[in-house]
Amino acid sequence: MTSEELRALPPLANPEPGTRAHELYLNYMQVVGDLHRAARESRDAADPGLVRLVAVSKTKPASDILALHECTRHDHFGENYVQELVDKAKELPRTLQWHFIGHLQTNKAKMLTSIPNLYVVETVDSLKLARELDKHWGKHHAATREPPLRIFLQANTSGESSKAGFATVETLIETVHTIRAELPNLQVAGLMTIGEPGCGDRDFATLRSWAEQVEQDAEKHDQEVQNLHAMTRPLELSMGMSDDYAIAIKHGSTNVRVGSAIFGSRTYKTSEAQAKADAARMAARLAAEATAASAAVDPKP
Ligand SMILES: *Cc1c(COP(=O)(O)O)cnc(C)c1O
Repeated sequence: MTSEELRALPPLANPEPGTRAHELYLNYMQVVGDLHRAARESRDAADPGLVRLVAVSKTKPASDILALHECTRHDHFGENYVQELVDKAKELPRTLQWHFIGHLQTNKAKMLTSIPNLYVVETVDSLKLARELDKHWGKHHAATREPPLRIFLQANTSGESSKAGFATVETLIETVHTIRAELPNLQVAGLMTIGEPGCGDRDFATLRSWAEQVEQDAEKHDQEVQNLHAMTRPLELSMGMSDDYAIAIKHGSTNVRVGSAIFGSRTYKTSEAQAKADAARMAARLAAEATAASAAVDPKP
């Protein structure tokens, strides 16, 4: 639901102060307010009502999602890990709209497409992955006559080797071509990028320019494509996270993905922190053994 639609709803009861629900509610309202301000202030931006807020709930418990949903009616949530999303989707209301925003291995495409209320896969970064999603969405949903699966193509606008995504506008154009011609169970609904920290202005301008070029090329080939629903126009722009959503909105973002500004910072169970702690424990044990050994060899009088 967009913030504009949200504001049109009758006010909901504030959650009780001191509860987790209240904390989430306050964070959320702050983000919605900032998002509106950014959209109003930027001459070039989309209508504030058209900027979709995706609440990124990865690593956070299902109870947080439900609490936020119940006090705000917010329904677009983003997750990065397939198994975590499958588990949460089973537990939570079917009316939620799930965005998959993590790196997706082709062998997990089948599991992901089994989620009935999957709204969009934002991180399609290869034609191979698109083919897998097309195949499995077709199998799962052809019988129920579901519309095609919405996807965003992920673009690597910063050129960082650590980031996934199509690295040039030419490869994006070529991929859209193939999808429109050969993959009837997919709908290309937008482009997505993760801005390099501190370089949002550059990366978001790049994504917007690439989207315009993809649209122009698609128009040239409309005659050859039987299914014109295979791509929406204008394409959505999924860009902007907690630290840079205002910049992204200035560049025309229609879909911001905000996690920590709503849910607080994340802690990972099998994290780098855990690995470091294990390494430190091992080092301490080796040091203790070395001390004991040298004491045995060279006993002090
Ligand atoms: C985790 C994540 C986000 C949210 O990040 P925050 O900085 O917590 O807002 C957005 N997009 C992607 C692709 C992510 O992995």
